[in-house]
Amino acid sequence: MSHASADADVLDPAVWPASAHRDAAGAIVVGGVSAPELVARFGSPLYVLDEDEARARARRIRTALADAARAIGTEAHVYYAGKAFLSGEAARWMVEEGLGIDVCTGGELAVALAAGVAPALIGFHGNNKSVAEIERAVAAGVGTIVIDSEIEIERVARAARAAGRVQRVRLRVNSGVHASTHEFLATAHEDQKFGVPLGRAVELGVRIRAHDSLDFLGLHCHIGSQIFDAGGFAESAARLLDAHAALLAGGEVPELNLGGGFGIAYTSDDTPAPIEEIAAGIAAAVADGCRERGIRPPRLAFEPGRAIIGPAGVTLYTVGTVKAVPIDGGVRHYVSVDGGMSDNARPALYGADYTVRLASRTGTADPVLVRVAGKHCEAGDIVVDHDQLPGDVGPGDLVALAATGAYCWSLASNYNHVPRPPVVAVAGGEARVIVHGDTEESLLARDAGLRGRN
Ligand SMILES: *Cc1c(COP(=O)(O)O)cnc(C)c1O
Repeated sequence: MSHASADADVLDPAVWPASAHRDAAGAIVVGGVSAPELVARFGSPLYVLDEDEARARARRIRTALADAARAIGTEAHVYYAGKAFLSGEAARWMVEEGLGIDVCTGGELAVALAAGVAPALIGFHGNNKSVAEIERAVAAGVGTIVIDSEIEIERVARAARAAGRVQRVRLRVNSGVHASTHEFLATAHEDQKFGVPLGRAVELGVRIRAHDSLDFLGLHCHIGSQIFDAGGFAESAARLLDAHAALLAGGEVPELNLGGGFGIAYTSDDTPAPIEEIAAGIAAAVADGCRERGIRPPRLAFEPGRAIIGPAGVTLYTVGTVKAVPIDGGVRHYVSVDGGMSDNARPALYGADYTVRLASRTGTADPVLVRVAGKHCEAGDIVVDHDQLPGDVGPGDLVALAATGAYCWSLASNYNHVPRPPVVAVAGGEARVIVHGDTEESLLARDAGLRGRN
């Protein structure tokens, strides 16, 4: 696939934060702060998060889902999926924009609580929550816990009983729908680790209700990620509504949680439908499904992560070396940067694609085909498989990667003893560190075998 833009310096507004533009010197500016200024102050590589973009996306998605739910006579609760990127600041932005926070480990729970998120706004899911994590979540008073397996019914019930609480719970179900980007696959069973088979949802819902210490909210599913339209959500909702309706015979089922997974544009080739259109499509499917079954539409719940924080992030790197490598029919320019799979594992992990642009200036030569590589000892350490940069790109130039706000910092490692970069939030011309980076010193301090040090 070739990228649509012929101009290797253009910032496609579908891919870059709304605030992104070039200043008089040609440098990329995000949140009112230029890339060279950011790197001069905070170093390279650098994760940059546009606070206004993250907040605006949270607001727009929450509003779209709430409006679509209201149009079918119900309401929508929106939780930010913290696994995409969770820090104290980010958690507070989301709460201020009217979202709850979805966490899936004790560590994420600890961040949300330490950030001051009201426990009632927190949802806790995960396929292997430890007993200690469940006890901690119950004791903290988290709003909801997603029961992911038969075994967990007892575990959560016992923890709630011991704490003298009634814990609100959802039951995670495999709808048999797995969706990504343009298509969804619908099967009788889904062969994956999360949730219980749809065929057991009613039986296990009844089991949950038998516990006085549990308050059954409804069914939960999450069908995939980077989904561009409503089709997979609609199919999944339709499937879940059968079990939902059957459970209504034995009591209230106030909610249906359809998870997250709304897609974003990493390159100009990605064309996710507007969230308003997706929300309306999901709501229509729920309304139709409820009418057919003669039931009232339940409250809807959603857990978007990537669609909120992904496009708000930009990673800045410094170019070290450039090599022209002959390939069939031309030349590929390998542009190596001072980070790589340690700060962005997604290309190596699942072939993710990104957009790269010169960030410290504009080019003076015609665009060339580039592959942006990291500095790690791994041939698969590729940051951008293919894009165009001006042919004069060279050592010392800054480059920026778009849409790195989700699943980059949160998946970062110290591979090759490379320190993880800090995360800097930008807004209104101001920049501040919201998560500190590692230093060589902080990495060495963990090594108990370094004599005279620890
Ligand atoms: C990963 C996950 C999400 C968020 O997915 P995004 O693609 O980031 O929107 C939401 N809910 C559950 C249960 C998840 O596992």
